[in-house]
Amino acid sequence: MGVALTHADKPLWPGAGDVGAVTKHDLAQYYEAVGEWMLPHIRGRPCSILRFPDGIGRGKRFFQRHTAKGQSALITSVAVPGESKPYLQFDRVEALVAAAQTAALELHPWNCRPFELAKPGRLVFDLDPAPDLPFDAVVLAALEVRERLETLGLTAFCKTTGGKGLHVVTPLKAEGLDWPAAKTFARDLCQAMAADAPDRYLISMAKSRRGGRIFLDYLRNDWMSTAVAPLSPRGRPGAPVSMPLSWGQVKPGLDPTGYTVRTVPSLLAKLTAWEAYDEGERSLAEAIMRLRA
Ligand code: ATP
Ligand code: MN
Repeated sequence: MGVALTHADKPLWPGAGDVGAVTKHDLAQYYEAVGEWMLPHIRGRPCSILRFPDGIGRGKRFFQRHTAKGQSALITSVAVPGESKPYLQFDRVEALVAAAQTAALELHPWNCRPFELAKPGRLVFDLDPAPDLPFDAVVLAALEVRERLETLGLTAFCKTTGGKGLHVVTPLKAEGLDWPAAKTFARDLCQAMAADAPDRYLISMAKSRRGGRIFLDYLRNDWMSTAVAPLSPRGRPGAPVSMPLSWGQVKPGLDPTGYTVRTVPSLLAKLTAWEAYDEGERSLAEAIMRLRA
């Protein structure tokens, strides 16, 4: 794709036992394989990257928002109103491969509409379980978020995070609402859920005080807030991926650990999850009215 890789054999995710390392070359090939699928979810939005120049578990990691000196010309540099320095943006598959060259293991786009930074384009409900909770509890929480969104006339799409929780994503129709409206709606929905089952859910509290509950993080839904992109790898052991799921897969027994940089490219041809995403855009203004009714 026209990107020169240096230290292509560098292990970014070290091998363990009889499982080989995932190298920078492997990551570049991964982005090449999944890039077309990912791009509609990141194009036209500023996108931070989480870089591990020496691979995970070694050396420094950094969360990079801004374009740096010597940035590949394949990566877009985008001006953000009110900000002095331009932000990173990935508008083509080659740009993702260029990101692999800089050991960008994770991609974290804004949730605005493409090329309209001030307009919410999707809501992301980030379900964070307390460490002692079984994953099935997160599954039930995702199903409940879906139910509540659909009752309000919205659609819902689920993905693993490549970490401990799940994300429920809601595509929004273009209608000129601003971030405060989106954030207030997301907070009100999470607040209602926590009020109905305070033993299972909570909002706005330090992770250390979650004790056996799921933290409903609505704060991804704001100007400048990010969430990991669907199909982004994670800089965590095993090279996990944030995997788009069909709701049929979101049931007790779901095991998110099987979705990795190694396994996902071969699943892509048959991937039907999120096919209805584009036609799933619905009116947030109407949902806000229904929630207040
Ligand atoms: P998990 O399921 O393990 O919670 P997650 O992607 O939801 O995975 P969180 O720890 O809940 O991870 O992080 C929430 C969001 O905060 C991330 O998706 C990311 O976009 C953002 N984030 C992560 N690291 C940073 C950082 N260093 N600076 C700013 N934002 C960050
Ligand atoms: Mn989370």
